[in-house]
Amino acid sequence: MSSPSLEALSAELAVLRPRMDAVSLAIHARPELKFAEFHAQQVLTRWLAEAGFTVTAPAGGLDTAFVAVHEGSRPGPYVAVLAEYDALPGVGHGCGHNLIAAGAAAAAIAVARALPAHPGTVAVIGTPGEEMGGAGKVRLAAAGVFDGVDAAVMFHPGDRWLTGRPGLAAAHLRVAFGGVSAHASVSPWKGRSALAAAQLFLAAVDAMRQFVPPTARLHGIVTEGGKAPNVVPARAVVDLYVRDRTAVSARDLVERVRRAAEGAALATGTEAEVSETGPLYAERRNNAVLAERFGDAVRALGVDIAPLDPDSPAGSSDIGNLSQRMPVIHPYVQIAEAGTPAHSEAMREAAATPLAHDRAQVAATGLAEVVAELLTEPWVLAAARAEFEAESEKGEVPV
Ligand SMILES: [Zn+2]
Ligand SMILES: [Zn+2]
Repeated sequence: MSSPSLEALSAELAVLRPRMDAVSLAIHARPELKFAEFHAQQVLTRWLAEAGFTVTAPAGGLDTAFVAVHEGSRPGPYVAVLAEYDALPGVGHGCGHNLIAAGAAAAAIAVARALPAHPGTVAVIGTPGEEMGGAGKVRLAAAGVFDGVDAAVMFHPGDRWLTGRPGLAAAHLRVAFGGVSAHASVSPWKGRSALAAAQLFLAAVDAMRQFVPPTARLHGIVTEGGKAPNVVPARAVVDLYVRDRTAVSARDLVERVRRAAEGAALATGTEAEVSETGPLYAERRNNAVLAERFGDAVRALGVDIAPLDPDSPAGSSDIGNLSQRMPVIHPYVQIAEAGTPAHSEAMREAAATPLAHDRAQVAATGLAEVVAELLTEPWVLAAARAEFEAESEKGEVPV
């Protein structure tokens, strides 16, 4: 055991396990898309209130957000455990956020029970709308919900144990083309096809691929492409994500994508309008000090967790923006066979299994240990802060 509190926290988590499973499975069974997570908010806040946390819901101007706070016996650090609980269209909880949410609440409650006289504040912050560019954490931060928070921790389900991996910066674009409708056979020359513009635009994006950094990701879907084959489409819409290792590079790519849209419009006699459907997700800065504290805790519980892998393939999350404001960790917890893709039916099924809940219990114990150390061992927060400040000084300012 890496600290005297780990044993006590493990015991609390074992007691909390049945409720953790019930909350997780209730959320899993009723998948709710970004900013409509009312049921998840209710089951989580009810549990936290029963456990003695002071609940504020809604919070930060978001109907489905919440802040649940357990004040300690004296002043000290403010540590937040983050709960995500939104699902995906089509695949429900294919990202396993039911486990994040129930595990976050369990971790915080375990700390409050094992260390009832702890200094400082332990909070669960319910951050809705992580998927689909919802940027819930960015919106909550802008509303001041994270003011005064010294560190934020969460875990994420996946197909392997990792103390952390990079997250790309991501811009969420909508490119709308406006043309002129006409009969597609009687008088097509009177029309201008917005769909032709969208096709040309996507071809231009493909032509760019060799000339963007190897770390960039440009990917989109056609969300509108006309209404009927016999009508020249007057409107076509492409939703596209532009990602790269830094927000600075992503912004640069957004400008090139914008010019590709304008070029496609020029060629087809249409108009292009490029907008962002949500805030830019900044790149993730994993706090190595806290990631290793989590690693040590779960290793002491028998898990063979790999250290931070800077070269791991990556998605994006609004945790990136928070990681520019304070030390954060976002370790990965294996709940499915290696190779199981995220955002899939297979991951959704895995997220409801007893194995996934065994692993979530271990991960929640690890988070609880990190929170307990941040509250009670001053060197941990001091070291995390020193690393954060050193990184901030050398990093480019992203958004
Ligand atoms: Zn996720
Ligand atoms: Zn996801």
